[in-house]
Amino acid sequence: MTNKKVRVRFAPSPTGALHIGGVRTALYNYLFAKQQGGDMILRIEDTDSQRFVPGAEAYIVEAFEWLGIKFDEGVHVGGKYGPYRQSERRDIYKTYVDQLLSDGLAYMAFDTPAELDVQRAAILNFQYDASTRMQMRNSLTLSTEEVAALVAAGNQYVVRIKIEPNEDIVVNDLIRGKVVFNSLVLDDKVLYKSADQLPTYHLANIVDDHLMEVSHVIRGEEWLPSAPLHVLLYRFLGWEDTMPSFAHLPLLLKPDGNGKLSKRDGDRLGFPVFPLQWTDPKTNDISSGYRENGYLPEAVVNFLALLGWNPGTEKEIFSMEELIKTFSLERCSKSGAKFDYEKGKWFNHQYIQLQSNAELATLFLPVLAEKGVEAPFEMVEQVMALTKERVSFVKELWDQASFFFVAPTSYDEKMAKKRWKENSAALLAELATLLEGIDDFTAARTEGDIKVWIEAKEYNLGGIMTAFRLALVGEGKGPYIFDIIAVIGKEETLARIQRAIDVLK
Ligand code: GLU
Repeated sequence: MTNKKVRVRFAPSPTGALHIGGVRTALYNYLFAKQQGGDMILRIEDTDSQRFVPGAEAYIVEAFEWLGIKFDEGVHVGGKYGPYRQSERRDIYKTYVDQLLSDGLAYMAFDTPAELDVQRAAILNFQYDASTRMQMRNSLTLSTEEVAALVAAGNQYVVRIKIEPNEDIVVNDLIRGKVVFNSLVLDDKVLYKSADQLPTYHLANIVDDHLMEVSHVIRGEEWLPSAPLHVLLYRFLGWEDTMPSFAHLPLLLKPDGNGKLSKRDGDRLGFPVFPLQWTDPKTNDISSGYRENGYLPEAVVNFLALLGWNPGTEKEIFSMEELIKTFSLERCSKSGAKFDYEKGKWFNHQYIQLQSNAELATLFLPVLAEKGVEAPFEMVEQVMALTKERVSFVKELWDQASFFFVAPTSYDEKMAKKRWKENSAALLAELATLLEGIDDFTAARTEGDIKVWIEAKEYNLGGIMTAFRLALVGEGKGPYIFDIIAVIGKEETLARIQRAIDVLK
C-alpha cells in the first residue's frame, strides 16, 4: 500500500436524490484525496436495474458542482480508467465471474425464488451457506452435464461466492482499527445474475476498485458488514496485495432520539435531507433541497465537514482550502454524529456575514425582482451592509429590508398608539425643516445636526426618534435611524415624514 498514489472514489447508486449522508461521504473522500495530492473518481453503480431512477445521475453531478466538490475522473468528466458507469462494464465483470467459477471459489445456483421460499419456511434463519448449499440446486450438487443442460435450456442462474465457514476475517479500518468477523455470519452472496447479465454490487465494486487502482475506500458505516466479504473477494481474485485501505464513516443520526437520520426526520422537523430539490419522476413528489432553501454551498460543506470529524480545536469556520489542510481520518469519530440542524442554520448565518455586500446584493436581486422592486445596485449593497447581521438566509433579508425600497403605507397600530403623541406631528414637521437644510445627508452629519437641535430645544430624544422611525419604517424595527435615512436619501425621508404626519394626525 505504501507509495501508492492516493485514489478514492465516490460510488453512488442512481436510485433517487443523493442523501445528505452521501454528500458527507463524498466530501470526506474529496478532502482526503486533495490533501494527499490524490485523485477522486465519480463512479455510477447502476447494476441494479430494478432500482434505477432516471435523472438521479444528473442530479448527483449537479449537486457536486453546486457544492464545489470536484472530481478528477468520472461519468461526467471522463478519464483513462473508464467507462465509469457500471452498466457499461459488463464484459469486464464477466471475465472475473468466470475466473472465480473455474477456480472453484464461486458456483452457479439454479434455485428458483419459489424453491428458496420453501427452504426459508423449512429452516429457521435460513442462510445460503456451507450449512445449506449441499441441499440446494447448484453446480456443487449437480453434475457438470446437468449444469450444462440447464444453461443450454435457458434456465436462469446466479453465481454465488463459496465461503468456507469458521474463518476469522480481519478488516483493518482506518477509523475503527481491526474489526474481526467470523465467516459463519456471511452467506454465499450472489455475485452475478444471468437474468440481466450483470454482477451485483459486491463483485462490481471490488473489480472496479481494483482496476481503477483505488487506494482508499471511504464510505458509510452501513457498508462495514459487507467489508469481510470484500476482503475475501480480493483474496479470491488474487488481489490481496493491492487491497485498498478501508475507512467506514460514522452514521448521521436523528437530531432527536436515536437512529439513523431519515427523510422522514427532515419532513417532521422541517429541514432538507437532500442537497438540491428533487422531484420524484414517478410520483412527482417534491423533496426540498439545501440550495433551494437558501443555503450557501460553503455553509453546507462546513456544516457537513464537522458532522463526524473533529478538528481538535475550537475553530468552527473552515473554508474548503482549510478543510483540505486540516482534515484527517484519524480524527473521525467511530460513533454516530447527531444531525444538529440548528447548527446548520448557524453556519449559514456565519457565511452570510462572510459574503461581501456586493455578493449578497447579487443574491438578493432576484428577491427584489420578484417583489417588483428596482433599485440601484449601490443602494442594495448599502442595505446589505445594514441588514445582513440580522438574517441567516438571503430570503429573510426582504423582511429586514423591504422598507428601504418601499415606503410604509400603514403604521403599526400598537406602536402608533403608544409612541405617536399629540405633539409628534409638530416635532416631525420641525425635524423636516431642519433636514431640508442639510445637503450632506451622511449619517454622521444628520445625527450631529439633529442631536444639536434636540439639545438646544431640550426635546426628548427618544420620543422624537421613535416617531421618526415609525414614519420611516412603519414599525419599531430596523437598523440605526441615521443609516436608514442616509440610504433612502433626503427627498424620500421628507416624503415619509410628511405622509406620517398626514396619516397619523
Ligand atoms: N453503490 C454503493 C452505494 O450506493 C457504494 C458503496 C461503497 O462505497 O462501496 O453507496
